[in-house]
Amino acid sequence: MPGRHAFLLNTAEIELWPGGLLRARGNSDARLLSRALTVLRRKRDGRYLAALLPEGMQSLMPGWMREPGVDAALDALDGLRTDRGFDADALGVLPLGRLIERLERLGLDDRYAESTGLALVAEPAALSFAGLDRYRRPLWLTAAAARAWLAMQRSARADGVALDAISGYRSHDYQLGIFERKLARGQDVQQILTVNAAPGYSEHHSGNALDIGTPDEPPAEESFETTPAFNWLASHGADFGFLMSYPRDNPHGIVYEPWHWYHTADAR
Ligand SMILES: [Zn+2]
Repeated sequence: MPGRHAFLLNTAEIELWPGGLLRARGNSDARLLSRALTVLRRKRDGRYLAALLPEGMQSLMPGWMREPGVDAALDALDGLRTDRGFDADALGVLPLGRLIERLERLGLDDRYAESTGLALVAEPAALSFAGLDRYRRPLWLTAAAARAWLAMQRSARADGVALDAISGYRSHDYQLGIFERKLARGQDVQQILTVNAAPGYSEHHSGNALDIGTPDEPPAEESFETTPAFNWLASHGADFGFLMSYPRDNPHGIVYEPWHWYHTADAR
């Protein structure tokens, strides 16, 4: 893919996707998206705003130039085009201000953090392409976690063990969207929290967390612990920097999640 980047650039309101990875919603979009170097996608609802083609920007939504956050997105795009030795992890994380405002509007204040011992997790400003997940969707992780995951998957395969990715990076908007839809259907915040993590508090926002599965096993089930894939991870995961975040009886009071692994550079 000459001229394309293998990064998801992340800004407060808009994501910049490399062309060729997004599904088209119509035939005219399909032609454009297949030729695009970069696609601007609104985080709040996934709407495609504009595409950068070899000959210039092409609108995918009338009035896209007036969208909130377009200036920041175009600045990020300029940075990508001018920086040849692009280092995704060096860009750091986005500020938390907008998330905190939205949580306050939902009625989720500091008491949630105090009662769970969890902290808000910032989104990275750039994520690396880490292959496709089980559902053939692009998997995004921090650059270090992406390298480690691909190496670990290869190593497992060499031992005859198949690992697949269920879910990696998830945005605040994704989790806020789940909450807002359930609130609109009449559930209250406390009810939703019994099933869904509060937006902003999931390790998946960091780009370092990965839900791992193995073919023919249901995703995110405790039965994963009885598979050869789990045994392999338990023996070798730490060699690649992956640790299980929520073992049995973890101090956060989170249910046992044998599928959920977190990449940390200094695991060993
Ligand atoms: Zn998880």
